[in-house]
Amino acid sequence: MGFRQDHLLGIEQLAPDEIGEILDLADDYVALSRSADKHGDALKGLTQINMFFENSTRTQASFELAGKRLGADVMNMGLEASSIKKGETLVDTAMTLNAMQPDLLVVRHPHSGAVDLLAQKVNCAVLNAGDGRHEHPTQALLDALTIRRKKGRLHRLSIAICGDIAHSRVARSNLILLGKMENRLRLVGPPTLMPAGMAELGCEVFEDMEEGLRDVDVVMMLRLQKERMDGGFIPSEREYYHLFGLDAEKLAHAKPDAIVMHPGPMNRGVEIDGSIADDINRSVIQEQVEMGVAVRMAAMDLLARNLRARRAAA
Ligand code: ASP
Repeated sequence: MGFRQDHLLGIEQLAPDEIGEILDLADDYVALSRSADKHGDALKGLTQINMFFENSTRTQASFELAGKRLGADVMNMGLEASSIKKGETLVDTAMTLNAMQPDLLVVRHPHSGAVDLLAQKVNCAVLNAGDGRHEHPTQALLDALTIRRKKGRLHRLSIAICGDIAHSRVARSNLILLGKMENRLRLVGPPTLMPAGMAELGCEVFEDMEEGLRDVDVVMMLRLQKERMDGGFIPSEREYYHLFGLDAEKLAHAKPDAIVMHPGPMNRGVEIDGSIADDINRSVIQEQVEMGVAVRMAAMDLLARNLRARRAAA
């Protein structure tokens, strides 16, 4: 059937076969990225603009590298450099950029839904690099690729997502993706950081880390998103670490070969103990970063193919 999307706005829109197609192509791009000559030409002649209205280190660098490895002309637009500071609306900024004929627009924005809105206004492929608490599709795809390569499959695994679920677009995109692939999902965290209705979505909800991690294959930790909190969600970071921070003792309840993931940036000593994060036998955090570049190469390649086909048919 093939990859049918014009944009990558969320995991919600993707069918399981489309997720599989991105991951299969990303596997090829992992191999290319590990070779001496890292260049492909899938995006040759195309212009990619990265528009980040919210801070980012790894995601922006990853998209930039992905575009360059495939031959695109890449431009980064940070919020500091943009007219937003001068009062221009999101749509005006997008229309200005649209007039420069980009082919791929990578957008991060603090408001949920902002990237969808933008995609309706421009005539190129738009990729969501994180919008508010809504979605962060390439993060879920890179997590899926990491899990598939480490565990040999992406279905019927027991996966615990732990911590600040309420504020996390990473959790949301992962829940959707891993649910579509028929995994057993557990959510672990304090009730103040747990959105309502999770049990109805088929997730098991736990307030206790030791119970929540029992016999899981994958432990996915989340950053405490303090910038999205307006006070009162946790008593103190110290107590949070004591109850929900991943340390060796809590991890011992997971399967002996369980992998530990974190999307970054990490708060060491808050949601995760530094020695677990650095334990190369358990932590796959560095692999996640590597998979991120490959998944973004694959997603942009597939979107560019559809874009070219649409333009040829017009
Ligand atoms: N980097 C991820 C995001 O942009 C996770 C985080 O910030 O905690 O959502």
